[in-house]
Amino acid sequence: MKERIYLSSPHMGGTEEMYVQEAFDTNWIAPLGSNVSRFEEQIREYTEAKGACALSSGTAGIHLALDLLGVRAGDYVFCSSLTFIASANPITYLGAKPVFIDSEIDSWNMSPEALEKALQIYAAKGHLPKAAVIVNLYGQSARMEKLLPICKKYKVPVVEDAAESLGATYRGQNSGTFGEIGIFSFNGNKIITTSGGGMMISNDAALMEQAHKKSAQAKDKALFYSHSETGYNYRLSNICAGIGRGQMEVLDERIQKKRAIFEQYKKGLGSIPGLSFMPEISHSFHTRWLTTLTIDKKLLNLTPEEIINYLASHNIEARHVWKPLHLQPVFYGADYFSFDEDNAKTLFESGLCLPSDTKMTEEHVEEVINLIKTLISEYQEIPSEQANLTIAGEEIH
Ligand SMILES: *Cc1c(COP(=O)(O)O)cnc(C)c1O
Repeated sequence: MKERIYLSSPHMGGTEEMYVQEAFDTNWIAPLGSNVSRFEEQIREYTEAKGACALSSGTAGIHLALDLLGVRAGDYVFCSSLTFIASANPITYLGAKPVFIDSEIDSWNMSPEALEKALQIYAAKGHLPKAAVIVNLYGQSARMEKLLPICKKYKVPVVEDAAESLGATYRGQNSGTFGEIGIFSFNGNKIITTSGGGMMISNDAALMEQAHKKSAQAKDKALFYSHSETGYNYRLSNICAGIGRGQMEVLDERIQKKRAIFEQYKKGLGSIPGLSFMPEISHSFHTRWLTTLTIDKKLLNLTPEEIINYLASHNIEARHVWKPLHLQPVFYGADYFSFDEDNAKTLFESGLCLPSDTKMTEEHVEEVINLIKTLISEYQEIPSEQANLTIAGEEIH
C-alpha cells in the first residue's frame, strides 16, 4: 500500500536531537533545565509576551489558567462551542459550569453578538462568569477587536486558547497575547510539537510568577517543604523542551508551507460551486494549520463523510470539523447561546479538514485535489438532457 498522507503529523527540523542530546550530556533529565528556559525565552521573543511558562500540555495550561483566574466550584465559565474538548474539560476539573457560545460564520470563532447576548442574560441573573475561554480555530485568531471590549465591559478575564494558532496575528498582534492568559499546545498534531507539551504566556508578571509556582506543586519560599495552596505537577520535561527548541527554529517555515498547501487546494478546488474555504478575516494572518472547508448541500450533493471515506480508501487522512461542545453528551444540559442560527452546528455538519501535513509535496496535494474532483464528478447527478448533450459533444470531437 502506498505511503499514508496525514492530516498534520510531527515534522522535525533537524536540530531537535542535538538539544535532546544536550539534556542527556548535562544529565538534566528533569522538568527543568536549560532547554526549558531557552524554549520559554524563544516563545517570549516570538510572541512578544512578557512571560512564558512551559507546561506538560495545552490542557494543563487551560486548567492552570482558570485556577489562577480564581475559577472555583459552582462558578460559570464561558467557552467557544466549536472547538476540541480540551478547551472545556478543565472547567469540569474545577467543578465549574461551562456555558457555550456559538461561532460567527466568517471567522468560525466566537461570535461577538452571541457573547454579548449571553453576558447580558447572565449579568441580569447575577451569574457573571469568572472567565471566558476564547478559542482561535485552525490557525486563525478570533475577532478580538470586538470580543475583548465586551469581556472588559463585564470585567470577565479572557483565557485565549491559542493551541491551534501559534504564529497567527490579528491587527499585527500575535495570537495568544490578547487574553489575560494565552495557551499554546505542542501535541503531535499541532504546527510544532514537543511530542506532548504546552505553554502559558501572559504580560502580567504576578500571574506568571504564580503560574511557575503552581505548576510545580506550589512550594512556598522556605528551606523545608511548605505549601499554603494547592499546586500541580504540570512542568514540561527538559527532554521535550529540547524538541521544542529545535521546532521553534522552523516554525516560520512550517507556517509558509501550511499556507502554500492551502493556496494549492484553493486553486484546485476553489471554483467548484458549493465548496467554500474557511475565510481569512480582514487584518488577520491565518497560519492555515489545517485547510478547512464547507460543502453547501444545496449546490453539491456530497457529504463530508463521503469525502473522508473516499480519501481513507486511498490511505489519505481527512477529518470532520470539531463537533461543537454543546452537542457533546458529556456536556448535556449546559447552556448555549447563538445570535441567530446555530452556526457551530452548521459548520460541523458541512465542514471538512483536508490533509495539511507539511511533509506533503505538491504532487500529494494535487492527488487529493484530483481524488475529490473525481468523487464530485461521479456523484453529481447529471440531468438527462445535459448528459445527452455531453455525449453528443463527445461524438463531435
Ligand atoms: C490541542 C488543543 C488543546 C489541547 O492541547 P493538548 O496539548 O493536547 O493538551 C486545547 N485546545 C485546542 C483548541 C486544541 O486544538
